[in-house]
Amino acid sequence: MSALAIRRFYDLGGEPLLDRWLRLAAPIQDRYDAEHAGRRTSELRAAILVGIALYNVYNLTSIVLLPDILWLSVALRVGLVTPVSLGLAWAIGRTSPLWTERLVLVGILNAYLLPVSLFWMTRDPLGLFTFGELSLTIIFANMLLALRFRHAVAFTAGALAATLLAVASKPDLAPALQAAFAVQITTACIFSLYANAVMERRRCADYLSALEASLRAKSADAARREFENLSHTDALTGLPNRRHLADTLDDWLSRPDAMALMMIDIDHFKLYNDALGHPAGDDCLRRIAGTFADFARRHDAFCARFGGEEFTVLVRDGGSELALARCARQLGKAVEALALVHPARADGIGVATISIGVARRPEGAVLPAADLIAEADRALYAAKRRGRNGFVLGGERAGFALGG
Ligand code: GH3
Ligand code: MG
Ligand code: MG
Repeated sequence: MSALAIRRFYDLGGEPLLDRWLRLAAPIQDRYDAEHAGRRTSELRAAILVGIALYNVYNLTSIVLLPDILWLSVALRVGLVTPVSLGLAWAIGRTSPLWTERLVLVGILNAYLLPVSLFWMTRDPLGLFTFGELSLTIIFANMLLALRFRHAVAFTAGALAATLLAVASKPDLAPALQAAFAVQITTACIFSLYANAVMERRRCADYLSALEASLRAKSADAARREFENLSHTDALTGLPNRRHLADTLDDWLSRPDAMALMMIDIDHFKLYNDALGHPAGDDCLRRIAGTFADFARRHDAFCARFGGEEFTVLVRDGGSELALARCARQLGKAVEALALVHPARADGIGVATISIGVARRPEGAVLPAADLIAEADRALYAAKRRGRNGFVLGGERAGFALGG
C-alpha cells in the first residue's frame, strides 16, 4: 500500500503509520475515533451483553461442577460481575474512545479472574471441568470483544499468568494434569492472540487504504477545481475571462429576468501604452479591472475581461433606463477617480477613461448572446464616436457624458 498521500497530509515524516503494537499514528487514530467511535461502542455493548448472558449460563453448570461453592459462584456472577459489566456497557459510550478500550480491558480481566478463582477454590473433583470456561473467555475477549491488539496482549498475558498460577498452586492437582491444563490454556492464548493480531492488522490496513483513497480523491478534486478556476480566470487582471463570461451570459439569458450587458473599452489605450510602456499599461488594466470587480461585488453584477482593453459587465435591469445610466456613470466615475495619468491623449482629459455601450435584454425576451454583444458593441462605437468618456444605451439616440 502506498502511504505517501497520508504521510504528506499528516506531515508524519518518518513516524510509522502503524507501529508494532498495531497502533495508528496519533492524528490518524484521532480521525479513526471520530469516524468510528459510535459504531465501536455499539459493537462492544452487544458483545458485552452476549458475554453477560453466556457468563450466567455457567450458573447452571456450577450446580453440577461446583456444588461446594455453588452459592459463592452464583452470588459473585449475579451480584458482582453482572451489574459491574452492565455498568461498563453503560459507561463506555460516555467516555473517550481510549478510555472505552481501557475500561473494557479492565472489565474483562476482572470477569476472567472469577472463574479462575472458583477453579482454584473448589475441592470438588468435578470442579476441574470448569477449566473449559477459561479458554472460552480468552477467546471471547480477543475475538468477540476484539480488544485492541496491545490490550489483547496485556489481557492475555495477565490471564495466562493468573491461570498458570492457579494451576500450579491448586492443591491435589496431579503434575500430569497440571501440565495438560498449562498446555491447554497456553494454546488458547496463542491461538486467540494470533487471531486478534490478524483481525487488528486487517482493520488498520483497511482503514489506511480507505483513508488514502479519500485523501487522493480530495486532492484530485482540489486540483480539478484549481484548474477549472484557472481556465475561467484572466491571468493579468484576475477577473473572469471570456470563456467564463460566455457561460455566465448563457446562464443569465436562460432566465426570464431582464438584464443588460455593458461593453466597456478603455479610451486611447494604445496611446497610454505608447507613452508609458507596456508594463504601465498592464498595471492600468489591473487597476481598472479592480474597479469593475468592486462594482460587481456591490451590485450583484458580473464582470469579465472580454479581451485586450475591453471588459464586459452584466447587470440586472430593473426596467429603468435611468438606473442603467446610473450604473454606467458609476463605472465611468470610478475609473476616472483612479486618476491614472494619461499624458498622451490630446483631448485634455489627462487621465484614463472608459467608453461604454449598453444593450438590454427585456424580461422574457429570447435573444442570442451574440446579438446582445453585437448590440452593445455598436453602442460602444457610438460612444467612441461621440467623443469617448461616455456611454450609449443600445437603440437610443441620445448618449450621456460620463464626466458630466
Ligand atoms: P480607443 O479609444 O478607440 O479604444 O483607442 P485605443 O487606443 O484604446 O484602441 P486600440 O484598439 O487602437 O488599442 C488598444 C490597445 O490595447 C492596443 C494594445 O496594445 C493594448 N492592449 C491590449 N491588451 C493589452 C494588454 O494586455 N496589456 C497592455 N499593456 N496593453 C494591451
Ligand atoms: Mg478596444
Ligand atoms: Mg480602447
